[in-house]
Amino acid sequence: MGDYLADSESEIRDLIIDIGKRLWERGYIVAKEGNISMRIDDGEILITPMGVSKGFMSRDMIIKINMDGEVTSPNKDYRPSSEVKMHLEVYKQRDDVNAVIHAHPPYSTSFAVAGVPIDTSVLPEAIMILGEVPVAPYGTPSTSEVPDSIIPFIRNTNAILLANHGALTAAIDLITAYHMMETLEHTARILCLATSLGNVNKIPEEQINKLMKIRCETGIPGEKDISSASAGPNRSSAARAKKIRSRKLLR
Ligand SMILES: [Zn+2]
Repeated sequence: MGDYLADSESEIRDLIIDIGKRLWERGYIVAKEGNISMRIDDGEILITPMGVSKGFMSRDMIIKINMDGEVTSPNKDYRPSSEVKMHLEVYKQRDDVNAVIHAHPPYSTSFAVAGVPIDTSVLPEAIMILGEVPVAPYGTPSTSEVPDSIIPFIRNTNAILLANHGALTAAIDLITAYHMMETLEHTARILCLATSLGNVNKIPEEQINKLMKIRCETGIPGEKDISSASAGPNRSSAARAKKIRSRKLLR
């Protein structure tokens, strides 16, 4: 047991398959919903196919595309995710991001349907791992409306709710993006339960500031990194991303 670097493309495909299974098994996606992508070395992206359950994928189903969305490893049987434009928009906006997950976890999606941002100031882990979680306006799935809807938010946060649709997480590597989706859904569930008890206490502001300081010190990507990414390629975070990009999922 332990983590190790898994830099071959086939191992990265296996990691995407693992994450797809976990999203499906946890009920974060059903039927053929959701999509997962990862930026690989040469500016190309590996992305899940359209019309397939992400709980039952094989290596050959994962599609390789370039930053213009063109398929670079033609596969007659499968086409890239219908939300490919949303994934590409995240990579264009964020040099420090190498993995994007979109899913429909029930509690998080309930907040998205209600149009209520997830208030992470109620749990230390949510503050540290997620930061702010806004709701992007509704856009018709598979159209440019969805990437357009996230543009005002994606430079300032790593987790976004898509109104009347679902959730998006973006991170330096795929496992981090997956853990963020778990934390997002866990927080949304706890908020629903606490609300049903009739009272939701927030963590005091001075305590939140302490958590944010720890977040910066421990190097969790957040607002600090985002500001440098917006000014151009962030060499140190890109180098770090390359190193840990494809870390194998702990079993
Ligand atoms: Zn969706």
